[in-house]
Amino acid sequence: MDYVSTRNKEKKVPSAYAIATGIAPDGGLYCPTSFPELTKSDWDTLIASDYKGRAALVLGKFLTDFSAEELKGFTEKAYADERWGSGNTAPVVSLADGKHILELWHGPTCAFKDMALQMLPHLLTASLKKIGEERTACILVATSGDTGTAALNGFADVPGTKIMVYYPVHGVSPMQKLQMVTQEGKNVSVCAVNGNFDDAQSALKRIFTDAPTIEKLSAQGMMLSSANSINWGRLAPQIAYYISAYCDLAERGMVTFGDKINICVPTGNFGNILAAYIAKQMGLPVNKLICASNRNNVLTDFFKKGGTYDKNRPFYTTASPSMDILISSNLERLLYYISGQNDEAVRNFMAQLAEGGRYTVSQEMQAALDALFDAGSCDDARTKDTIRRLYENEKYVCDTHTAVAVKVYEDYRARTGDTTPTVIASTASPFKFCKAVAEALGGTVEIEDVSQLDVLSRLCGQQPPKPLASLRGKAPRFDRVVEKEDILSTTDLLAEL
Ligand SMILES: *Cc1c(COP(=O)(O)O)cnc(C)c1O
Repeated sequence: MDYVSTRNKEKKVPSAYAIATGIAPDGGLYCPTSFPELTKSDWDTLIASDYKGRAALVLGKFLTDFSAEELKGFTEKAYADERWGSGNTAPVVSLADGKHILELWHGPTCAFKDMALQMLPHLLTASLKKIGEERTACILVATSGDTGTAALNGFADVPGTKIMVYYPVHGVSPMQKLQMVTQEGKNVSVCAVNGNFDDAQSALKRIFTDAPTIEKLSAQGMMLSSANSINWGRLAPQIAYYISAYCDLAERGMVTFGDKINICVPTGNFGNILAAYIAKQMGLPVNKLICASNRNNVLTDFFKKGGTYDKNRPFYTTASPSMDILISSNLERLLYYISGQNDEAVRNFMAQLAEGGRYTVSQEMQAALDALFDAGSCDDARTKDTIRRLYENEKYVCDTHTAVAVKVYEDYRARTGDTTPTVIASTASPFKFCKAVAEALGGTVEIEDVSQLDVLSRLCGQQPPKPLASLRGKAPRFDRVVEKEDILSTTDLLAEL
């Protein structure tokens, strides 16, 4: 299986190279040149396997320069029962009116980023070896919350790696901060930045291209790397859970094998829903992919209003912060495939986006998008109302991101009359967003610490997940706060890890 850049399909590279380098030199994203198909015998194996086996089979279709044993070993570690509460990595909970909630947050940090970030360290370290890289990979991550916690947990004590996470000092939730500053592991460090997320992100971008820093680190046997969601090594592990969900539904008789499903995804950077698109290209029977946005509805307009992507609009801070995004990076990969792998067209769209903040796809591309995608958005008031209704009617508690998807699906079903069973991706534990969820259920949360968990627990009669409950009483390991101008100097700390 070869990989090419979305902006230049001439140069082909193997998957280990795509994962080790993260982004193509022309700024494009690495994509497989074709989609492997799942055969009848693959489906038989998938249905008979546990999650680890299913993930290894799906990854094996794309990562052809890795052996089956290698991948099996990685999935055994990444999805080990003791790291995934119930031992059921990605369970599906069936509710009324065709809703099948795919819970992707049973991992160590209680958000769906774990599905990929427990796997990436294994893929990355093996990829570096395969391309002959012997230096220690130093992962630098700027985070507005979930990515930083999941990356720290995934890379903690992984040989051959070090990780440093930067978060805006006032920009993450109390629970997210606590998760990061108490993270164990000899090779991890955390820095609060006196600035916002963009300040941290821009500072890191400068570090990645700062020649003196790169040379100095290299002389000490280190190289810089990223755990960003545009890395193919983060996207590939996400394809498996949609296929796994279908196997579970078929096994339970919720769908007859071969029948189509819809998939509805609360979307930010477009990685999670793109994984569903790829699963469909491999042969997963999908009717519609439904792209759900919060008040930052740039994608809804793109899909529903004539194929124009326009980021020139106000940015809103919402109750579903992981979806507060105006440039969805992974949409570039969809444009590449929908245009029939037209790298020149993608190059033009991205140049227009960089220059004027907008582009319009061709009518042909619009028709192709229309055939497969639907979209909708939901504001905070309706998000909270959905959390309350779902609890009152079905005793199911969901987080604010998942609620956006549930509401957008309900609107879609009412508007179209389509009653196809629908898998709704649930991306975080409700206990990770205690304050908003508790308020939706009629409570109030004044406190800014781990006792928030008790408030929500009393309201909904459920125990918080162990990884969050166990934060109680843990001592912070990291209290460093740096000015945004001084981020570069923190790379000196890498030598000490
Ligand atoms: C990252 C995240 C999303 C958005 O996922 P994308 O792959 O960026 O579209 C949605 N919900 C939660 C809780 C997240 O952490």
